[in-house]
Amino acid sequence: MIKNLYKHIILYIVFALSVFALYTLIDVFSKKNLEFQKEILVTQAQTHFNNQVNTRKWNASYGGVYVKPQNDQKPNPYLKDNILKVDENLTLIKINPAWMTRQLSELSNVEGFHFRITSLNPINPNNTTSPFEKKALEYFEATKMREYYEFGDTVFNYMGALETTQDCLYCHRQQGYKLGDIRGGISLSLESSKYNAVADRIKRNALMLKFFVLIFLLSITLLIHKQLKDNEKLEFKVASRTKEIESTKELLQKILDSELSFLVLCDGTEVKYVNKTMLDFFGFETLSELKNRYSSILDAFEALEGEHSLNDCIEGEHWTKYLHREQSTKELKLMITKDGVTRYFKPHVKDILLDNKTVYVIIFDDITNVLKQIHKLEHEASTDALTKLPNRAKFNDVLLKEMALSDESAAPLSLIFIDIDYFKRVNDNYGHDEGDNVLIGLSETLLSTLRQGDFVARWGGEEFIVVLHSTKLEQAVFIAEKIRVKFEKNHFPISAKQTISCGVTEYIHGENKDTLLKRADEALYEAKEEGRNRVVVK
Ligand code: GH3
Ligand code: MG
Ligand code: MG
Repeated sequence: MIKNLYKHIILYIVFALSVFALYTLIDVFSKKNLEFQKEILVTQAQTHFNNQVNTRKWNASYGGVYVKPQNDQKPNPYLKDNILKVDENLTLIKINPAWMTRQLSELSNVEGFHFRITSLNPINPNNTTSPFEKKALEYFEATKMREYYEFGDTVFNYMGALETTQDCLYCHRQQGYKLGDIRGGISLSLESSKYNAVADRIKRNALMLKFFVLIFLLSITLLIHKQLKDNEKLEFKVASRTKEIESTKELLQKILDSELSFLVLCDGTEVKYVNKTMLDFFGFETLSELKNRYSSILDAFEALEGEHSLNDCIEGEHWTKYLHREQSTKELKLMITKDGVTRYFKPHVKDILLDNKTVYVIIFDDITNVLKQIHKLEHEASTDALTKLPNRAKFNDVLLKEMALSDESAAPLSLIFIDIDYFKRVNDNYGHDEGDNVLIGLSETLLSTLRQGDFVARWGGEEFIVVLHSTKLEQAVFIAEKIRVKFEKNHFPISAKQTISCGVTEYIHGENKDTLLKRADEALYEAKEEGRNRVVVK
């Protein structure tokens, strides 16, 4: 703002200086022009004066000349030898320089031009001075100057001093004239109206020129002023736009940094930006620090077992491109354990076109809590609430996998179907809670008897099922018997002793789940039929 104010001040200073300089220049030229016009008048007057002086010199050099009197002209009484009688009929009279000048002046006087000879002390009392002439003669006396002039409104008055020369002394010595004395002068008056008209025109032209100069400079100044104002407006616009962009940038930066998920920007070959949340998590101040530590950001994460992991990306292809291609078909995940806490992330990418270049925006959503929730729900969905054993749905999955494994490895696989004998009576006689206690008791017996890797589930009601991998029928019978005996030895608080019946069978490679289960069920049925508390094989 202040910078712009200075610009305006400088502009107006330059304007004022230019006006002043050009006006001065115009004044100087007009003055010179006027002086030149004056010089013309002065030169004109000087020429006249010098002519008269020369004529007078000529006359004086003869000590006056005799002429034939005209129109009863009388001889000059102030002159010595004022007549010359040539004969009876002709008497000449003497004309001295002064009289000659006077006569010439009378002859030469035309409109607009007059001259005459005069003196402060004229011999002829009629020849008194005009105020101008008096002033000029006094000026000659007081100074060494020999000419004096004045410009009047209509007349230009000029006076030249007449200096006493040797020729003058011839007649005027007896009057006390000395060589170099100024005894009088010749005054000339020239009409100056032409000069005045020219001078007026010069002044008028100067005034007009000044007016045009003022208009011209003012126009230029106003144009520059407008340009400056426009520039200011533009500067202001640019500044406010820049400020807007800056604050938007700042806002975006804040949004990116306040994003709770990890956020990465990549051009498809190189990571260009990592948000603060991610840097803080890994304990780095800058992206370059992170890059120095890990050649690829993925190296900071661990792969997930049995899940689609982003670390599985194809070598030679940037992981952002792999993610971009695979994200719709694969549930790609990443994992990291920090300070003993494992966190899971689900990366997803969006490609945006920026200046004709693809930029990948990758967000790593923290799905730890979601996964936990899912696992909890999955667990709940596959677990029996009372005994905490896997339920039938889970059992079916496990059985299918175990059958496949058994097929693959040709290892034996056996099943034990277990049912509590007369369980209804427990409920009926001792209440439902005691029934639950017996169910929990059986599940504990099962868990404590089975080997690591064996699988037991609650089939439903008071029925349980056991999958024994790498176990032949005989071994399965042995285990079933072990369970039966162990359970029988349990002493429940109210219902005391309870028994179970077991149906045991071995998987026949290639058969389906239903036939296998059916056989186990049939074995159990037989055990019930044969009197319960026993193990039957089928
Ligand atoms: P059997 O020897 O022939 O197997 O006779 P049973 O009485 O054991 O067989 P039945 O099928 O007639 O009875 C099973 C009973 O188990 C019926 C049902 O009320 C009970 N029961 C099923 N689930 C639970 C449970 O979660 N808790 C309790 N307390 N009882 C249950
Ligand atoms: Mg039953
Ligand atoms: Mg039963």
